Amino acid sequence: MGAGPAGSYAALRLAMLDVKTDVYEEHAEVGLPSHCAGHISIRSLKALGYYPLPKGIIENIFNAANFYSPSGTKFSIRLKTPVTCALNRAKFDQHIANQAQQAGATFHLGHTVQSLQIENNYVKGINIKNHPTVSSKIVIDAEGISSRLLHQTGLRGIDGKGLVYAVETEIDQVHDVEPHAVEVYLGSSAPGFYSWLIPRPDGSAKLGLATNHGNPQTYLKHLMTKHPIVKNQVKGAKIVKTSYHAIPLAGPINRAYVNGFLAVGDVVSQVKPTTGGGVIFGLTCGEIAASVAKSALKLGDFSAKSLSVYHKRCNETLNFDISFMLHLRRFLNSLSDERWDSVLRFCNRFGVAKALCDVEEIDYQGQMLMQLATKPAMLVALGYFGLLYLFANP
Ligand SMILES: Cc1cc2nc3c(=O)[nH]c(=O)nc-3n(C[C@H](O)[C@H](O)[C@H](O)COP(=O)(O)OP(=O)(O)OC[C@H]3O[C@@H](n4cnc5c(N)ncnc54)[C@H](O)[C@@H]3O)c2cc1C
Repeated sequence: MGAGPAGSYAALRLAMLDVKTDVYEEHAEVGLPSHCAGHISIRSLKALGYYPLPKGIIENIFNAANFYSPSGTKFSIRLKTPVTCALNRAKFDQHIANQAQQAGATFHLGHTVQSLQIENNYVKGINIKNHPTVSSKIVIDAEGISSRLLHQTGLRGIDGKGLVYAVETEIDQVHDVEPHAVEVYLGSSAPGFYSWLIPRPDGSAKLGLATNHGNPQTYLKHLMTKHPIVKNQVKGAKIVKTSYHAIPLAGPINRAYVNGFLAVGDVVSQVKPTTGGGVIFGLTCGEIAASVAKSALKLGDFSAKSLSVYHKRCNETLNFDISFMLHLRRFLNSLSDERWDSVLRFCNRFGVAKALCDVEEIDYQGQMLMQLATKPAMLVALGYFGLLYLFANP
């Protein structure tokens, strides 16, 4: 249940495997309301068969990123080819849902799942507001961050301490911004995370931030009026849309299955701890969930033991990179504003941008670093960051 990217993609893969699949979504339209920046790696989209995409879904492509300290020190990366793109998330979600329907899945929009039907310790179906109970062999929970239904199974769910609270806006105009560069503002402008600006070709942009420390709206106001770079970039701009949502950064929860039940996506924190990106990991685990569910149906065994393969396969795919990213997030959170200045100056001085210029992978960041570690500038940088990390986490 849940027609976000994780749920709809699991449904698509199940339908492709000839499994009768029903998706229950509380909203009347897939993808709305949208709360996401939609900044995604092109390489990962390609691997999942989602690049290129039909017209109107991809809003922009990026081959550069500019990072700023709170005092305005800038570090820029220029890549040889476009590595990321910005998606219109509502249209992207609708595209996956349409594909799933064409493959045979049935979508029930405006259907809020109120609770799980549990008998003899097995999840046997779902109870829907104002509708009869639906029985099923396996329920795949893709309810997003709310975790309300997951808790009913006895699984622990997301730890509130690992959440950051985000505000995402659309603004009508930006200035002094490169058309194909993402802007990232570090340090105390958004403690515990960062702020971002993602431009569109028509001069509008998505501007947002997330923090684990206070009200994101207050930080946004401060960012737009006081940040030495942002205040000029957004001068005279109007906010035309605002949304609020939490992002889980603590890495996947330690168990995502019980008898007759699998959980996928944000509900089990399948999200990158560094950037908060959850779309690619949600799709990747949605595909694994579908294949494990199909095998369980073949065997007629829906026990937790049989479904535990799901957790094992997700761990094999994500764990190395997630562990690395958890350390990296801890390191980034430990840097003071003054330290951010010196880190970005260090990166400029030691040619880190040049060492990064042929990066293509941004989702599996542990593996990416292993490849980069052979370059002298990166070795020096890793040594420097390693010392800072040890200093901050003795
Ligand atoms: C501000 C912000 C910016 C982000 N930017 C990026 C980014 O640039 N790149 C990236 O990769 N990720 C980004 N993310 C994360 C990304 O949005 C999520 O990881 C992704 O949407 C998770 O997909 P999902 O399918 O698990 O959950 P969701 O997209 O949240 O979908 C869950 C669906 O379940 C439905 N639902 C919930 N409860 C019920 C119920 N009881 N009954 C029926 N339906 C229900 C909801 O209506 C919703 O449609 C961002 C998140 C935020 C908050």
